[in-house]
Amino acid sequence: MTIQNTKTFRPDERGLIEAVDALRGGGLVAFPTETVYGLGADAQNDNAIANIYAAKGRPQFNPLIAHFSDISQAKRHVKWSNIANQLAETLWPGPLTLVLERHSKSNLSQLLSAGLPSVAIRIPAHPIAKHLLVNLGRPIAAPSANISGQISPTRPEHVHADLFGRIDGIVDGGACQVGLESTIIDLTGVPTLLRPGGIPADIIEELILTRLAIVQSSDAIRAPGQLASHYAPRANLRLNANTKGTNEIMLGFGPVECDLNLSTTSDLVEAAGNLFSSLHILDGDNPTSIAVSPIPETGLGIAINDRLRRAAAPRPANNQ
Ligand code: AMP
Ligand code: MG
Repeated sequence: MTIQNTKTFRPDERGLIEAVDALRGGGLVAFPTETVYGLGADAQNDNAIANIYAAKGRPQFNPLIAHFSDISQAKRHVKWSNIANQLAETLWPGPLTLVLERHSKSNLSQLLSAGLPSVAIRIPAHPIAKHLLVNLGRPIAAPSANISGQISPTRPEHVHADLFGRIDGIVDGGACQVGLESTIIDLTGVPTLLRPGGIPADIIEELILTRLAIVQSSDAIRAPGQLASHYAPRANLRLNANTKGTNEIMLGFGPVECDLNLSTTSDLVEAAGNLFSSLHILDGDNPTSIAVSPIPETGLGIAINDRLRRAAAPRPANNQ
């Protein structure tokens, strides 16, 4: 990471203006929500989202939650439903995340939803989170503000200890109230509890008069045969390709001849930001096979290669 210093933004008017400016410029700003401290970035900026993965040192691109200031802003990005409306009207703002089908006109980053046709959305209640969302005027992606694999931060000092020198700033808003992550409900099919959290599942069941189906662990969505299959393009992928074969279309990296380039300057953050949108674009041409340049197995290259290897793995015919 190139950031040398991490600012502390006070939760007053001036501090919050600086925090919004940093977000608007594509920076990373940690801020309190009622659950835990989130690591925020403009949810429409692929490069900023790629920097979240880099700062957290995540070895995989699991999808992130997009935070909104109000329901009407959120509705523009998803296919809204009666059940979503019922839950949103009662439990938002609050620690509830809804997974809904992505609207075809949504300009949320493809990397944010890791190329999935769905997106996870939430309206946080914390006044600082709300202030940032309203003043930025755009949705904010915000996973927990910790190094991957560490405990979620509930105080600014926790964020500082993990991420100093890796992010642009931290809004000091004291301790978080809930200290538990949001409850995640998938509404793309039968209502399913993907992760228990700040709002108990039985409250949700009472509201929608339906028992929630349960996924054992949110990791299950990344397991082969589950959502992982949706991550894959229809075309076959040939990895570590140095040249394009007959009937192939080529996704390049670095100074190579190709149809689309993840980053001509071999910048892994730029490549991560372009990965999912590029796969969608190339797959749209219905090629038989996509050849992909070698990607170095360092930094974000690890997550890029993880994603590419999964997309290249053989899939059962009914899973495509
Ligand atoms: P975190 O941001 O660390 O609180 O975690 C976000 C959680 O939301 C992860 O468990 C993701 O797998 C889940 N998530 C985000 N987007 C989606 C989606 N489109 N479909 C299913 N799960 C999602
Ligand atoms: Mg986390």
